[in-house]
Amino acid sequence: MVWVNRFLGRSQDMETAKKRLVNLLKLEGVVRSAEVERALLTVPRELFVPPAYSSEAYYDHPLPIPEGQTISAPHMCAIMCEALEIRKGLRVLEIGTGSGYHSALCAEIVSPSGEKLDGLMVSVELLKRLALYARDNLKRAGYYERVHLIVADGSLGAPTRPVYDRILVTAATPRVPNELLEQLVEEGVLVIPVGTRWHQRLFKVVKRKGRLRSEFITTCIFVPLRGRKGHQE
Ligand code: SAH
Repeated sequence: MVWVNRFLGRSQDMETAKKRLVNLLKLEGVVRSAEVERALLTVPRELFVPPAYSSEAYYDHPLPIPEGQTISAPHMCAIMCEALEIRKGLRVLEIGTGSGYHSALCAEIVSPSGEKLDGLMVSVELLKRLALYARDNLKRAGYYERVHLIVADGSLGAPTRPVYDRILVTAATPRVPNELLEQLVEEGVLVIPVGTRWHQRLFKVVKRKGRLRSEFITTCIFVPLRGRKGHQE
């Protein structure tokens, strides 16, 4: 009984911490849409971070995950989701699955819990070990059916379907790969960090009438994208 109470206490603390964080992100103007707010409140970030860090799951900072990679800070996930204007029913592609958390957030928006699964969420990860880590996390959090995981070099786009409504890249690219622009539908949106290994600028790229319009969002630091069109070392 003591153990149960302790456990319940902890999960209540998590809920409180999560609500506090989302309120803060709303006050800061980072969370603007009902969709992003609901996704942040629904997806349990504590299930996507290593157990040693679960007490920090609702601190607004990145955390280490296996293979020397990181799960982005909640505010960065929110900034990207808002910039992408993700809505129910859209087909979304993520390059860089990592922990699977950002995929789960997007899946919660395109195919909300308890509703007909009409959106599509595909995520590409270069490292097999991380894809397995993400798969376990997504299973525990109840998103496994809603996220299609692919192990491949995502710097060349997704090897499966030809086009997506939205594409997000969660690793730093030296420049925007053409392959990703080609996989974007007309009126589609790509959000991508571009720059050196240590400093990047996050861009929103919109494809309209065959032309590309880029908008600077913020400066940022992501781990490097590897692969053919990634940072070479
Ligand atoms: N979105 C993730 C964090 C991503 S960290 C989350 O929510 O946790 C960046 C990820 O990009 C790492 O997992 C890294 O292995 C992956 N990555 C790096 N280069 C890649 C490539 N060329 N294709 C696919 N994934 C890549």
